[in-house]
Amino acid sequence: MLQKPKGTYDIYGKRALMMNYLRSVFSSLIDKYNVSYFETPMFEASELFHRGVGETTDIVSKETYDFKDRGDRDMTLRPEGTAGIVRSFIENKLYADSLPLKAWYMGPMFRYERPQAGRYREFYQIGFECFGTYDSMMDAEVISIVYNFLNLLGLKGVKVNINTLGDKESRENYHKALTDYFKPYLNDLCDDCNRRFEKNPLRILDCKVDADKGFMKNAPKMTDYLNAESKEHFMKVQEYLNIMNIEYEINPNIVRGLDYYTHTVFEVVADIKDFGSQNVLAGGGRYNNLVENIGGPSVPGVGFAIGVERLLLALEYEGLDKVQANPVSVYIFGASTQEKKYLMSLANELRSNGFKVDIDYESKSFKNNFKRADKINASFVIIIGDEEVKTNVLTIKNNKTKEEYKVKHDEIIEFLSEKLGDLDEDK
Ligand code: AMP
Repeated sequence: MLQKPKGTYDIYGKRALMMNYLRSVFSSLIDKYNVSYFETPMFEASELFHRGVGETTDIVSKETYDFKDRGDRDMTLRPEGTAGIVRSFIENKLYADSLPLKAWYMGPMFRYERPQAGRYREFYQIGFECFGTYDSMMDAEVISIVYNFLNLLGLKGVKVNINTLGDKESRENYHKALTDYFKPYLNDLCDDCNRRFEKNPLRILDCKVDADKGFMKNAPKMTDYLNAESKEHFMKVQEYLNIMNIEYEINPNIVRGLDYYTHTVFEVVADIKDFGSQNVLAGGGRYNNLVENIGGPSVPGVGFAIGVERLLLALEYEGLDKVQANPVSVYIFGASTQEKKYLMSLANELRSNGFKVDIDYESKSFKNNFKRADKINASFVIIIGDEEVKTNVLTIKNNKTKEEYKVKHDEIIEFLSEKLGDLDEDK
C-alpha cells in the first residue's frame, strides 16, 4: 500500500476543521491591524534560500528540499515564508508604494528534519511581515499580534520571551566577544557548535546539546555589547509591551535560528506539562538588513511565524480543540426518478437561500436515510414521496424532537428560517 512520505500528514476530519478555524480567527484578527493577505510560490530559485557565505544558516546548510526542474534550474521548496515575500517585495517594486507594507500568510513550509512530535517535513505556518518602519512600535506590535491571537483562542500555557541582537555594529562586537570566549572550549562543544563557531557563534547559545555545560553560564551577554541606539530601541519595545499589558520575559539566550535578525527577537513557548521538547510555538523579530541582502533597497522589516501543528497540539492539551462543523440544516431524501428531480431542485433552492443542505444520492431505505440524517447531525429531514411531488406540500420532520409538519413548498424558506432561528436560541 502506498503511504504518505515520512514527516508529512493528511488534513481531514477534526484537523481540517481546526485548521480552517485557525485561519478564520487569525484572518479576522489581523484585518483589525489593516494587514493584507500575501501568497508566494511554494518553490523558489534555490539561491533565494542559499544566499552567499556569511548569510549561511542552519536551514540553508542542511534542511531544504532541493531539486532540479526539467529545465535544469535549481529549485528549493520554501523552508519559511519570509524570504519569498521579500523576493516579491523587491521584484514587484512594492517598496515604491506607500510604506509600511503589512502582509500575512498561511501555508505549508518544507524542511528535511528528523520527524518527531511537533516536528514535520511539511508543516504549516501562519506568518506576518511588515516592511518600511524602523520604529520599535512595530516590534511591539508583532509580539502583540501573536499574544492577542493566542489569547483569542483561549490558550493559557504560553510564555513570551524576548531579546535583542542589537544593530550591525553591536552584533559584530558581540560576535568577536563570543568567538574569543568559546575558542578555548572548541573541543568541549558538539560538532554542530563547532560549525556554528565559524558561521554564526550566536547559535551556540541556544544549542540543546551543550546547554548544561559549565562554561555556557559565563558566556558574554549581548546586553553588554549593545550600543546606545540599540539599547534605546529595546527599552522602547519593552515600554510599548508594558503599555499594552503584554506579559513577557527577557531571555538573553534567544537568538533564533536564522541569522538575518537585528534588534528585537522573540519566541512564544508552550508552558504546558509534558508538552515535549518542540515547544516553541512561534518566533520572529526584526530584520533590518534582509531586504538589502536579497538585492533590494535598504528597507527594514519585522515579522513572525507561528507553527500551526504545535499550536494545534497546545490547544489539544488545553481542551480547546472542540470546534464543530456548522450543523446541517436540512437532509432531503426521495427515491424515484421524479422524486430525485424534485429534491435536486428543492436542495438547490434551499442552498441558494443560505441553508446547509445534504441529500440522499443512493435511494436508500427510509431507515438508512434517518440513520444518515442522525450521523450528519441534520436539524430537519424533508421526505419527498409521490404525494409531495404531486401536491407541492412537503413533509418535514424535526430530527431531534421527531415532530412532523406539512409545509407548502413556497412557504418552506420562511418555515425553516423561523424554526432554525428557534434552534439557535435554544442553544
Ligand atoms: P522558524 O521559521 O524556524 O522560526 O519557525 C517558526 C515556527 O514554525 C516554530 O516556532 C515552530 O512552531 C514552527 N516550526 C518550525 N519548524 C517546524 C517543523 N519542522 N515542524 C513543525 N513546525 C515547525
